[in-house]
Amino acid sequence: MTSIEHNLQRVQLRISAAAAQCGRDLKEITLLAVSKTKPASAIEEAMAAGQRCFGENYVQEGVDKIHLLANPALTWHFIGPLQSNKSRLVAEYFDWCHTVDRFRIASRLNDQRPAGLAALNVLIQVNISDEQSKAGIMLADLPALAQQIAEMPRLKLRGLMAIPAPESDYARQLAVCQQMAQAFKQLQQDYPGVDTLSLGMSDDMAAAIAAGSTMVRIGTAIFGARDYGQAAANHNN
Ligand SMILES: *Cc1c(COP(=O)(O)O)cnc(C)c1O
Repeated sequence: MTSIEHNLQRVQLRISAAAAQCGRDLKEITLLAVSKTKPASAIEEAMAAGQRCFGENYVQEGVDKIHLLANPALTWHFIGPLQSNKSRLVAEYFDWCHTVDRFRIASRLNDQRPAGLAALNVLIQVNISDEQSKAGIMLADLPALAQQIAEMPRLKLRGLMAIPAPESDYARQLAVCQQMAQAFKQLQQDYPGVDTLSLGMSDDMAAAIAAGSTMVRIGTAIFGARDYGQAAANHNN
C-alpha cells in the first residue's frame, strides 16, 4: 500500500469516527483531497485508492493538472483566492468554485462559463472569523450576494464555504462551525438547490462534522507536507 493510499484510509477513518460520534450518515460527507503544490503523480495515487474529488488553490497549476490527467471521472474544485483576471480559466476548467465572495467575480464566472458545460457549482465564501486579512463576505451581506448568484444561469449556487481562524479548543471550534451551519440552513430554506457546506480542515474536522459540514478539505494528512519554496517558484497567484 502506498503512503497516500494509507493516509487516505486514515483520513476516511477519522471522518467515519467523527460522523459516528454525532450520529450522522457518512454518505452526507464528501472528502475533498487538497492537492495544491503536489504533482499529478500524487493525484494518480489517490485516484488509484478511489479518491475522485480534488481541490486546487492556484489557477494555472490546477488547469495544468486537469489537462494532464484529463479524466472525466474526476471532479475539480477551485478553493484558492480568485482574482478577476484568472476567473476565465476557473470558469472553463473547474467543476466547482468555493471562493466566490463578491458580485464582480460571480458575474465574470457566469459570463465566462462555456455553453457546452454544465453550470459552474458555486459556494459563497464567508469570513466567519471576521478577520481583516481573510477573504469572504460578512454574514450580513450573504443574502444579497446569494440572490444575485441565484439569478445567474451559468452558475449553480450550492452553498457556503469558510476557513475559520485557527483555534485549538474544540468547544470554540464548534461554536464557529455552528454559526456557519446556521447560515447554511437558512440559505437552504431560501434556495432548495443548496446542499453543500464546505467546512473543516485537518485540525477542526471533527467540530465541522458535528456542526453539519458536508465537505471537508484535507491536504497534508493525505499528501504530506507541502514545499512552498517550490510552489512559489512555479506560480505567483
Ligand atoms: C490548503 C487548504 C486546505 C488543506 O489544508 P491542509 O492543512 O493541508 O489539510 C483546505 N482548504 C483550503 C482552502 C486550503 O487552502
